[in-house]
Amino acid sequence: MVLILRVSELGIDKAAKIAAKKIKQGGIVAFPTETVYGLGANALDEFAVNKIFRAKGRPPDNPLIVHVSSIDQVDILWRDIPEVAYTLMERFWPGPLTIVLPKREIVPYNVTGGLDTVAVRMPKNEIALKLIEYSEVPIAAPSANRSGRPSPTRAEDVLEDLGNSVDVIVDGGKTEIGVESTVLSLVHDPPAILRPGGLPLEEIKKVIPNVIVHPAALGEFFGRPESPGMKYRHYAPSVPLVLVRKDFLDYILKKELSKGKKIGLLLLECLKISNEKNILLKCFDGNLRIMAKELFSALREFERLGVDIIIAVEPPLEGLGLAIYNRLKKAASEIIS
Ligand code: AMP
Ligand code: MG
Repeated sequence: MVLILRVSELGIDKAAKIAAKKIKQGGIVAFPTETVYGLGANALDEFAVNKIFRAKGRPPDNPLIVHVSSIDQVDILWRDIPEVAYTLMERFWPGPLTIVLPKREIVPYNVTGGLDTVAVRMPKNEIALKLIEYSEVPIAAPSANRSGRPSPTRAEDVLEDLGNSVDVIVDGGKTEIGVESTVLSLVHDPPAILRPGGLPLEEIKKVIPNVIVHPAALGEFFGRPESPGMKYRHYAPSVPLVLVRKDFLDYILKKELSKGKKIGLLLLECLKISNEKNILLKCFDGNLRIMAKELFSALREFERLGVDIIIAVEPPLEGLGLAIYNRLKKAASEIIS
């Protein structure tokens, strides 16, 4: 049976202490971060880490992000740390930036999907930080969804996907940012964003002016993936999702409505849909921050409401728009642009 720890009832400290005990015993614990809910285990315990892959149904070559509660902890995980890594950590940690650097021997290969590098970040969430601190080890944690599903932004989403296959779920309410961290490789030359996320490209450019967005991060690369997660379909709801450019919206709406389809429509700017009962609208008044926060829960809600198809309109590719676009593109069953 899964143990659910409600922070609203127990308080942060008590919930974190109970959950940390499970981590120390080699168990797996779902917990909130500022991005999405993670499914964590002792990053230095190969056996515990294996339980994460089993619970999620995650392909073994898709590496995990290791979460720390202080900058000092990176010394046991990474070797050959460049100066710019410290600049980034001091500026953006705790926060939604994951950095990839060469791993030390102590990091098991199942954490890194067989790679000689390891991805590390410090989450900006008091529950997550206390959990790591009380566990007294770094915590390896991918998002706490079944592999391929939309990421969980609420404890209920974790329960829906993973239920009793995890030991503990710490319920800390809805996550603040709603999309995963930005993954930045410092072993790539020039430094490359492997996955756009909660920390916008524009912010990283202020520290690394020559940083690039890896073509695969936008789905425009078909060679050997540098970040194995790039090759899998991700974030996908159980109903078809069509990603369209705004100019094609009218056309596709008419087409699907004429087939009698019930449509979940997701877009940044709100528009008047002339009381069309077969369209469920989720829009965000042009605010990318709110759209990111609501993105995954909107996909899951459309599923629950029984829509036949989700139509999502491409957001602008600036700020958090790049992360939203990346998630929608990977979730899409069809792209019209
Ligand atoms: P998740 O925590 O489920 O959001 O997935 C973590 C993602 O981080 C993976 O899908 C990888 O793409 C990326 N990642 C983790 N470790 C590495 C690494 N060593 N090198 C490149 N990418 C990584
Ligand atoms: Mg994930």
